[in-house]
Amino acid sequence: MDYVIPAWDLPSVAVAGEQRRFPVHRIYCVGRNYAEHAREMGKDPSREPPFFFMKPADAVVDDGGLVPYPPATTDLHHEVELVVALGRGGTDIAAEDARAYIYGYAVGIDLTRRDLQQVAKDRSWPWDTAKGFDHGAPCGAIHPVAEIGHPTHGAITLSADDELRQQGDLADMIWSVPEIIAHLSRLFTLHPGDLIYTGTPAGVGSVTPVTRLHGEIEGVGSLSVTVVDGI
Ligand code: MN
Repeated sequence: MDYVIPAWDLPSVAVAGEQRRFPVHRIYCVGRNYAEHAREMGKDPSREPPFFFMKPADAVVDDGGLVPYPPATTDLHHEVELVVALGRGGTDIAAEDARAYIYGYAVGIDLTRRDLQQVAKDRSWPWDTAKGFDHGAPCGAIHPVAEIGHPTHGAITLSADDELRQQGDLADMIWSVPEIIAHLSRLFTLHPGDLIYTGTPAGVGSVTPVTRLHGEIEGVGSLSVTVVDGI
């Protein structure tokens, strides 16, 4: 293909035990999917339908990578999350069939400019500036389903410079991974290469440079990134 300006490489993330990488098509995120986190954000964790927002595909940051502190915020928050990587696409996927669409799972961090999110909430503005910024979607190596199966329970934690900040269990997700895929596939055509960040447990908090964030999910893997001074 010839383009009128230089084209860029596809955004991608590592795959555990593989030289080849996973190309990223879109990044979907689920809001408030753990009751304790909904409560800490001042919301009622009743089982209202899941809601979604997106991040640009090129916001991914590899395990071991650096996150320059983003501009326009003084309150950057960490949210450790289970990430689902789709290997197949489709629409109107039934929850019972959804697992067949999953290539693998990873540990991710949904970085959030919490101050901009509060302004957006107050003014009924979209969340894009709060969520969809550069380097805002660290994602660890994807572990294929063929190796780890489908995790449904297990500790999910995040430490900041070895201080435990977030702690939960995948079993506490309000909407399960198959239910999330079913809902999303009624709103969007899902594609191979889509990543889904499935929500964060309680304990979200602010991070300043220089801080090493380490996320871990039992039975899935881990992710470390370092927040450094902005460019
Ligand atoms: Mn989140």
